[in-house]
Amino acid sequence: MQDLQGALSQRGLTVTNLPDKGRCLFSTRDFSPGEVILNEEPFVSVPNRASVDARCDWCFLTTNLKRCSACQVVWYCGSTCQKSDWKLHRLECGVLSKVDKDRLKSLTPSIRLMVKLYLRRKLQNEKIIPTTATDNYNLVEALVSHISEVDEKQLVLFAQMANLVKLILQLPGIDIKEIAESFSKLACNAHTICDSELRPLGTGLYPVISIINHSCLPNSVLVFEGRVAVVRSVQHIPKGTEVSISYIETAGSTMTRQKALKEQYFFSCTCPRCVKLGQCDDIQESAILEGYRCKDDGCGGFLIRDPGDKGFICQHCGLVRDKEEITKIASETKLLSEKASRLASSGHNTEACATYKMIEELQLKLCHSFSIALMQTRETLLKILMELQDWKEALAYCRSTIPVYQRVYPGFHPLLGLQYYTCGKIEWLLGDTDNSIKSLSKAIDILQITHGMNTPFMKELSIKLEEAHAEASYKLSSKNLSIDD
Ligand SMILES: [Zn+2]
Ligand SMILES: [Zn+2]
Ligand SMILES: [Zn+2]
Ligand SMILES: [Zn+2]
Repeated sequence: MQDLQGALSQRGLTVTNLPDKGRCLFSTRDFSPGEVILNEEPFVSVPNRASVDARCDWCFLTTNLKRCSACQVVWYCGSTCQKSDWKLHRLECGVLSKVDKDRLKSLTPSIRLMVKLYLRRKLQNEKIIPTTATDNYNLVEALVSHISEVDEKQLVLFAQMANLVKLILQLPGIDIKEIAESFSKLACNAHTICDSELRPLGTGLYPVISIINHSCLPNSVLVFEGRVAVVRSVQHIPKGTEVSISYIETAGSTMTRQKALKEQYFFSCTCPRCVKLGQCDDIQESAILEGYRCKDDGCGGFLIRDPGDKGFICQHCGLVRDKEEITKIASETKLLSEKASRLASSGHNTEACATYKMIEELQLKLCHSFSIALMQTRETLLKILMELQDWKEALAYCRSTIPVYQRVYPGFHPLLGLQYYTCGKIEWLLGDTDNSIKSLSKAIDILQITHGMNTPFMKELSIKLEEAHAEASYKLSSKNLSIDD
């Protein structure tokens, strides 16, 4: 702990124990928006079980992969990654090679992550892999497991998984109970590793970053540069402030967010958004994000359930929508949603697109225009239309999500930045250079804070914007030329 405090103090950080919250990370100096607060290599990491392509076990790339010939389980994109992983994989390879073919099928990423966790601990104990103040098993030991709060069904599952890990590891002195508790630890501490566009690549354990607590209105954001986790401030953080990131999707009512946090992380959030639970503006926000719209097309009011249970009353104009009508549209939507996702997952994009449009129509009748369900339908339509290369319609859907994104992802939020980026790319494809410049500039304004400027992803974005500027000035000069003629 002393070592960790020393390492953190050089970065302007300190760990404090608060009675109601446990460990918290505080700033000991000011941080400006976009500044890197922490970066950390994973203690252990593992790629997702790939649906189509395998991934490099070290960097998660999917190109030029070669399978480890000894264990036939792990893939690498080249000798650099293989070498970086060798000390750990040498041991892992040995145990994996002994696992019989049938059992290999049950080798999920969680099982592999656990095997790697204990093997890495062994290698650090034997000083084959060096330890540092921010890279040692004590930090993993200090993580909360919430094992006493885990329900019976989950405990049985953890025990079964632990049994398998013990069989694979064949290490003396580790019992099933200890491994099961470690699974509980991973469930509430491991992070999903994503690419720059927030698509999931794998899972990793980052014990120092795990000290950072959650807020539904966080002052920092966690992104990944390859396997390295990077926490950046998204606002001015004065000295003596608790650093916070978000553990969950923050677009949602307070009830929805609290439920998600309780279920996975076992705590009741007391962030500035959550303390408003039940207050007037929180009720209004929940009704807008997850409730119904007014019967009157011209009224933007939000609806609250009538205490007499007749239906839902518009808080702006007083009109009542009866329960039966709402239930009918909601169940139609549900049926169509099942059909649409079946169509989409079986690759019938044109049919899926038509079905999602029917869902959108129903949701327009049912939900408030800032509804999250409607926003999600439009996100899906955007994705499908891009696959169908129908850029014009895709652009219309992309633009329609922006006002909702601005509301649910305020400030410097990567998702808003990425949505502007998508908009700008489609506008560019459609030859709308002026709007493309506007959208790409907005994307850069946000993403330079959340992602920094040094990643290949951000370099690509900057080049796109430069190209758009060049195109615009070329168009302008050729227009001027023709006027001069
Ligand atoms: Zn690699
Ligand atoms: Zn191997
Ligand atoms: Zn909260
Ligand atoms: Zn109304």
